Amino acid sequence: MQEEKTKCLIIGSGPAGYTAAIYASRANLHPIVYEGMQPGGQLTITTIVENYPGYPEGKSGIEMMDDMRRQALRFGADIRTGEILSVDLSQRPFTCKTDSDSIIIADTIIIATGSSARWLGLESESVYRGYGVSTCATCDGFFYRNKVVAVVGGGDTAAEEAVYLSTICKKVYLIHRRDELRASKVMQKRVFESPNIEVVWNHIPIEILGQIEGFSKYVTGVRLENTKTKEEKEIALDGVFIAIGHHPNTELFKGQLALDEENYIITQAGTSLTNVKGVFAAGDVQDRSYKQAITAAAGGCRAAIDAERFLKFQD
Ligand code: NDP
Repeated sequence: MQEEKTKCLIIGSGPAGYTAAIYASRANLHPIVYEGMQPGGQLTITTIVENYPGYPEGKSGIEMMDDMRRQALRFGADIRTGEILSVDLSQRPFTCKTDSDSIIIADTIIIATGSSARWLGLESESVYRGYGVSTCATCDGFFYRNKVVAVVGGGDTAAEEAVYLSTICKKVYLIHRRDELRASKVMQKRVFESPNIEVVWNHIPIEILGQIEGFSKYVTGVRLENTKTKEEKEIALDGVFIAIGHHPNTELFKGQLALDEENYIITQAGTSLTNVKGVFAAGDVQDRSYKQAITAAAGGCRAAIDAERFLKFQD
């Protein structure tokens, strides 16, 4: 099995991973970056990023990630399309297995694996996943031109997806379990000002309705339950977008790193240090409260500086 050594392995891309790669490259750590299943991370499936400083007109998430990637390449980061399948953090240097059956021996690891969209957990949701049920409006919205869809959730993601879909679809229901949105005021305003978005307050989906005909399946509606009265009702529609938050991608590290009760990596306050010396975490994988592109990028910067200092001063 092929084996190679590196001073710094960065697992994951997105603003945290790419920023860590920029800083680690400039510090001559010659980082190897494994981008994971979704190179560029979640910003590549968003629309316009309007709150990242330096872009007064906003910037497409895909372009922003491509810029960061190219910036890291420019300073010599070894960016690879692929995944790390397992890590052994029990001794330093750390042994990591890649999906191309090679081994990387890393003096330090920066974890920037981000988070993934959560699902409702309904059986019918799994039946129609990819056939009318999606977690990505920018990926799948195109299929619902002039149709009726619902977005489930009340946060910024749900609001953003609803507004985006309202420009494509005939009608968008925004289904939220409470009577006020969690989304930022600016996004709420856009939702309320969109004439074809109807907010369905105090409801949760309890079943995705659809038809299965031979090999083809499609969604025909959703059954909702009123969270206060428990009354049920059905809405006819063509697609459902789930936008109820994210969970951290920490499967790889379970049992090896300290995680909190929601499986976020625990880092020492104000740093990227995990409970294992030489392992650092940045971005959404360790952030349960901010989850912004700018905070992820800042975390990546911090992790690279922490890794550099660790290598310089390690015991
Ligand atoms: P959030 O955790 O902010 O919101 C999740 C929403 O889903 C909440 O409204 C929550 O309801 C609802 N929800 C959770 N679980 C369920 C369930 N089982 N059934 C029904 N509803 C459920 O996640 P987001 O992905 O929206 O945002 C994550 C972070 O990313 C936030 O910090 C957000 O600000 C940020 N973000 C910023 C953007 C921007 O600035 N442009 C764009 C997108 C995200 P309840 O409110 O009752 O808890």
